[in-house]
Amino acid sequence: MIRLLQAALLFRVRTKPATPSVHRAWVEINLNHLEHNLLALKQALPSRCLIMAVVKANAYGHGSAPVAQFLNRIGVNHFAVAEIEEGIELRKHGVKGEILILSYTSPGRVHDLSRYRLTQTIVSAEHGQALNQCGRKLKVHVKIDTGMNRLGEPYVNIQAIRSCYEYEHLHVTGTFSHLSVSDRVEPEQTAFTNMQVDRFMNVIQQIKAAGHNPGDIHIQSSYGILNYPMIDCDLARPGIALYGLLSKEDDLNLMQVKLRPALSLKATVAQVKDVRAHCPIGYGHKFIPSHDIRIAALTIGYADGVPKTLADRGGYVLIRGQRARIVGNICMDQLMVDVTSIEGVEHGDTATLIGQDGAEVITACQFAKRCGTVTNEIVSRIGSRVARVYTS
Ligand SMILES: *Cc1c(COP(=O)(O)O)cnc(C)c1O
Repeated sequence: MIRLLQAALLFRVRTKPATPSVHRAWVEINLNHLEHNLLALKQALPSRCLIMAVVKANAYGHGSAPVAQFLNRIGVNHFAVAEIEEGIELRKHGVKGEILILSYTSPGRVHDLSRYRLTQTIVSAEHGQALNQCGRKLKVHVKIDTGMNRLGEPYVNIQAIRSCYEYEHLHVTGTFSHLSVSDRVEPEQTAFTNMQVDRFMNVIQQIKAAGHNPGDIHIQSSYGILNYPMIDCDLARPGIALYGLLSKEDDLNLMQVKLRPALSLKATVAQVKDVRAHCPIGYGHKFIPSHDIRIAALTIGYADGVPKTLADRGGYVLIRGQRARIVGNICMDQLMVDVTSIEGVEHGDTATLIGQDGAEVITACQFAKRCGTVTNEIVSRIGSRVARVYTS
């Protein structure tokens, strides 16, 4: 209770918005669910393994500073972001602990890396050499490519990998790799994942044998935790699962970890109007009703992260606990829904695009599937002008 109170003061966490909301379009983030997911993931892992919370891309749309501040308060001390500006943003908001930049940073930014006490990934031995030549003390994690074929020094280049631990100005505090098919558990994919883990552990052994300290080792992201929790590492890097989501609706989750989605996406009914049969609705006359229809215009559009394709694939929203189909083209700032069969809809009503309203729920996974993509893409593209409201 006290902690929630403190959280409320610290992050100006607002309680459930009264109806009608003052926001145009907003996401509600349930911090209790975030905490639940954190504990559930921790429980699945060996007890010594700590969570490195991945808060890149505005914490997958959840708001990186408030999310990281909250996680800081409940004991998380390791964070990962994609790029340097995201790390600086967290420090400016007082986030403590290690902040690892997962992707490439130009050696031209070493001043900011050190000023904001950010930990940089060495994406290749060459990158390490260039960073060292800048002559500033930097904390780094060494990235090993064990089969993803994206970033990292290839696992076979042991000499090059060892060189990363020998630079005068670089302090290696971690060594990591990334799994490319840990979301799948068929024999072929499991064999590949196990091979990646073996390659990684083998490199770690060789680093140690050469008298170097690999620091904290880590290889699992969300699906690595959910499907391969027994891997023995110091850290694990969940992103999507921390937010209570799977990437795809029908994905397996071998550990049966019970996740709770933290995010709902909502907008307001701006206007309700009756439209006669055969009168075209919206841009391009894409929708022409065959009968009289009642339309509600909602205060959210594709600039807020609602893909235009949602309209073509039977997308709907929830208003007054009922489904209202999206009609016509989704606009940049608005979209229209059919509320003919919903009693009493009026301006100021709340429309739910992701989340629960009465007995009806639209999950982020369902929303993503309908748009032909993964949940990660949908939540990370929720627009910057969408308000973030935190509840607990
Ligand atoms: C984004 C990312 C993660 C988190 O991935 P999820 O699948 O969202 O858990 C972990 N590690 C790296 C290197 C990443 O780029």
